[in-house]
Amino acid sequence: MNVILLGPPGCGKGTQAKRLQDTKGLVQLSTGDMLRSEVASGSEVGVQVQETIDSGGLVADDIIIGLISNRIDEGDIVNGFILDGFPRTLLQADALSGMLEKKGIEIEHVIELKVDDEAMVKRITGRFTCDGCGTGYHEEFNKPQEDGVCDKCGGTAFSRRADDNEQTVRSRLRAYHEQTAPIIGFFESKGVLKRVNGMADIDDVSAELSVLVG
Ligand code: AMP
Repeated sequence: MNVILLGPPGCGKGTQAKRLQDTKGLVQLSTGDMLRSEVASGSEVGVQVQETIDSGGLVADDIIIGLISNRIDEGDIVNGFILDGFPRTLLQADALSGMLEKKGIEIEHVIELKVDDEAMVKRITGRFTCDGCGTGYHEEFNKPQEDGVCDKCGGTAFSRRADDNEQTVRSRLRAYHEQTAPIIGFFESKGVLKRVNGMADIDDVSAELSVLVG
């Protein structure tokens, strides 16, 4: 089963995709994570995209479409995937349809996490991740049980994303409304869009998604 999670930065796509990965055996395909790995490795693509990511703009469609297509072709996806952060433009949505048709793959669920923008600024600027296992936390809403120790792996090193500062977050939200929000209508017109209240408690959102995805 293949799923697309839609919604603005901070709506919980990454957190919920990780949970669906753990509970349903789906593979999280996060274009943001792929791009950050490219930047960290110092690859040609990484060098090309770093400035755009730091400014909160969107990376060129052809780079993103290439990353996703190559990732799907790796052949390790057995039970399906969750697209997290892709598609983000109408051109990407169109390219995705064509790409999946060629590969003989179908998307079963397109789910929008509905949230308030102002709450997203607070959510994003307070979040941090365990360096060991990637579990996400928030300094106010979702702290580790023991201060400074990861609940999942016991790690004690955590990081924040460089683009999780207020100025960049506001640019990312603007990019979402200008370039990504029209995609909602694209999927709605195909009759495949479902909505979940992303302002609810993380566990309640997970429970609702789990039922929707089946
Ligand atoms: P994310 O981790 O999804 O918040 O993405 C972080 C940054 O990576 C975004 O602000 C964009 O600069 C870039 N990015 C991630 N996914 C895409 C995409 N599908 N299209 C264009 N840029 C993207």
